[in-house]
Amino acid sequence: MKKEYAVIGLGRFGGSICKELSREGMEVLAIDLDEDKVNEYKDIASHAVIADSTDENVLKELGIRNIDHVIVAIGDNQQASILTTLMLKELGIKKITVKAQNDYHEKVLNKIGADQVVHPERDMGKRIAHNIISNNVLDYLELSDDHSVVEVKAGKKMIGKTLVDLDIRARYGCNVVGIKRNKEINVSPLASEVILEEDVLIIIGEDKDIFRFEKNLV
Ligand code: ADP
Repeated sequence: MKKEYAVIGLGRFGGSICKELSREGMEVLAIDLDEDKVNEYKDIASHAVIADSTDENVLKELGIRNIDHVIVAIGDNQQASILTTLMLKELGIKKITVKAQNDYHEKVLNKIGADQVVHPERDMGKRIAHNIISNNVLDYLELSDDHSVVEVKAGKKMIGKTLVDLDIRARYGCNVVGIKRNKEINVSPLASEVILEEDVLIIIGEDKDIFRFEKNLV
């Protein structure tokens, strides 16, 4: 059976999730307090309803229990976001993703059992910071508080050299886990692999080591 989703809060973040899921052909129930927001999504989502998600009876009436994955994208009102998450949890929703406004909010959400807590502004800020440090950093994914994966365009100092010559693991403590070349990805590059212009390296490591690598080689 097709998976069903609900998005609560149709601001910029929730709205964009709702649009993307709908575009991918998913069943999406869109919920917001605000009538204008709901009107905006009535032709995009499978169903769009005006409702206050902090009202348990409303959630029950909407049949939220039958939804597989609920995304709570309530912005500034942390109390409403926490209360909604708590009730969804009590109603037995299998997967709950919540947008956190700050670290304190994130802590509470983890404590009450949110399955996934996302922090889009902070994560995007980090990603852009990496890109500001070096234009060659194309993408950045945080794995934990101090480990990440980055995609970097090969710098001048790397071109024509092999991975052995560059000795990235010994010198910078990070690992090259893949090389993208002409839209193909080699996920187990050999030590003898020669780096070509336009290659994109996928590197995993501790943030401090990745920063050192970015400053010196990229
Ligand atoms: P963003 O930063 O993603 O743009 P906003 O704060 O603009 O977030 O949007 C949050 C949305 O959540 C608003 O459209 C608001 O009406 C909605 N919202 C806030 N509280 C509730 C609630 N209790 N039930 C349903 N929707 C809510």
